[in-house]
Amino acid sequence: MPDLGPVPDAATKRERDVGSIPGGVGGAGGRCPRPTAGVRPGRLPAMHALLADPRLLPWVERVGRARVRNTCATVLDEIRAESPSAGLLPDGVDVPASVIAHLTVECRPRLHRVINATGVVLHTGLGRAPLAPAAAEAVRATATRYSNLEFDLDTGERGDRSSLVAEHLRAITGAEAALVVNNNAAAVLLLLSALAAGRQVVVSRGELVEIGGSFRVPEVLTQSGAHLREVGTTNRTYAGDYAAAVGADTALLLKVHQSNFRIVGFATAPSLRELVEVGRRHNVPVAYDMGSGALAPDLPGVGSPEQIDVRSALATGLDVVTFSGDKLLGGPQAGLICGSADHVRACARHPLHRAVRVDKMTLAALEATLNLYRAGRAAEAVPALAMLARLPPDLLAAAQRMAHSLSDRLGTACKAGIEAGESAVGAGALPDCPLPTSVVALRPAVCGAQALAAALRRGDPPVVARIRMDAVLLDPRTLFPEDEQALPELVAAALERTR
Ligand SMILES: *Cc1c(COP(=O)(O)O)cnc(C)c1O
Repeated sequence: MPDLGPVPDAATKRERDVGSIPGGVGGAGGRCPRPTAGVRPGRLPAMHALLADPRLLPWVERVGRARVRNTCATVLDEIRAESPSAGLLPDGVDVPASVIAHLTVECRPRLHRVINATGVVLHTGLGRAPLAPAAAEAVRATATRYSNLEFDLDTGERGDRSSLVAEHLRAITGAEAALVVNNNAAAVLLLLSALAAGRQVVVSRGELVEIGGSFRVPEVLTQSGAHLREVGTTNRTYAGDYAAAVGADTALLLKVHQSNFRIVGFATAPSLRELVEVGRRHNVPVAYDMGSGALAPDLPGVGSPEQIDVRSALATGLDVVTFSGDKLLGGPQAGLICGSADHVRACARHPLHRAVRVDKMTLAALEATLNLYRAGRAAEAVPALAMLARLPPDLLAAAQRMAHSLSDRLGTACKAGIEAGESAVGAGALPDCPLPTSVVALRPAVCGAQALAAALRRGDPPVVARIRMDAVLLDPRTLFPEDEQALPELVAAALERTR
């Protein structure tokens, strides 16, 4: 991210209004019609004079003369289009300030930090798991220098990038072998391509689900070249259904975590052990797409049959499992394949592996995150896990602190009360595990909740919050300490923008 130094003030309302008028094409383009001595009051400045303005010089340095010139041309065009008399500067228009306001918006990174006040810990829209500082530091250290990504320092020969974290994954999950790819969708596609292309994969009708972002199990199967053999019904599938479907052409029994979809009531699915038993009897491997794949068995909500941790899943005898790096693991986007050496090797050797391989920054972040697990420090040091583990008294205390400082700052412009609420795990993980929390409910005097929420999203940094009835809710669970501190000013600025 380029350091833009102290960022000049954001556009004032007037400047934004000026900026909203589409500029013409004539006149600008970088050529100045007639040289003038400088930015003269009352006159539209010439391009070269504008570019020499001392306020714009730091911008020329940071973003380049061509970019500043372009913006100057746009701003001048807009003023000309608006101004009734050519060459004259409308009252109160400060051209360099307008240019700076434009540049401030234009040069802001498009991908940037937001404050997550939704209480959804693994919010896919907001980048899922925030990395632990140790993971971010590992990324920085590896990304800005050369590394031994695919170089074996002992032998001086070509190495294997996945092996860098395989040992950690074996130690943590008990798997015989492990492979890392770009994300879990890629892990499933690779697994099916390597183990089942051209052959049959048996899946329960209750698990032919679509996971957010258009990952649809039947379509991924088709893409891999495997043939889907559906068994059971939407609500009930028995071990016997799998056994009856197995034939000479069966390559795999696949279980898929239902993610954020649940069948409750009159529903049956075989246990992992029963499924493994069917596989053993017919000599067919059994795979489980676990989705979130918790590594920590002591997370709230983990331990039910729907959500067991990876080690326990493999201990039932499954041949191979896949899961995400940025869901309950709390690390970078990645797809992890853990299981028996034969099956993992088949995935590693498949040509598709090269197309879905993981990059060095991901590996650095993943290794550092897994290190925290091995050190027994994940529960405090992995932010997503720490947020999930926050207890109601701690959250209530945080909400009280926030309500207090918000009321102090906002006065009568906005009420800030404390209410009971529910946070969510997110990313399709543990949908049945609501997390009790306390939220600050903002009820502005001057506008509705929708308008306030929209204004909060336009802040710097933007704040993303939920709405319940007539209130904007701020859930302390997903706030970092510095977020909590920044909120009173950000809410005040947002209220100002709704005027
Ligand atoms: C989330 C999920 C995926 C996709 O994982 P990504 O890491 O987002 O690619 C696949 N399967 C299940 C069951 C999931 O929950």
